[in-house]
Amino acid sequence: MTLLCFSCEVQLHVHRLGVLVVQHADIGPSAIWKADEYRCPKCGNRIIANFATKPLAECWQGQQFTAVMNVTRSTPGNVVHCREFPDPVYFQ
Ligand SMILES: [Zn+2]
Repeated sequence: MTLLCFSCEVQLHVHRLGVLVVQHADIGPSAIWKADEYRCPKCGNRIIANFATKPLAECWQGQQFTAVMNVTRSTPGNVVHCREFPDPVYFQ
C-alpha cells in the first residue's frame, strides 16, 4: 500500500505499528481495532491506515471488550478515537 501526502507529494512512512482505534457509537465505545500510523516526513501530517480485517473486540463480547478497553486506557498515547467505521466491508 502506497500512501502519499497530498500537500508535500511524498510517500508517507510508517511511524507506529499496532495503534489501537476505539470506534464510538451513540451508546459509547463499540469496537476496538488495530491499525498502523503513518507520517509525512516533510510536514509531519499523520494518518491511520492498514486496519485489521476484524476488530480486536466488540462491545457485545463483555469481559473481552472490557479487557481491551483497559489496555487502551493504560496506553493513551497509542490510542485514536473515531466515530467512523474503519472497514465498511466488514459490516456488510
Ligand atoms: Zn506532507
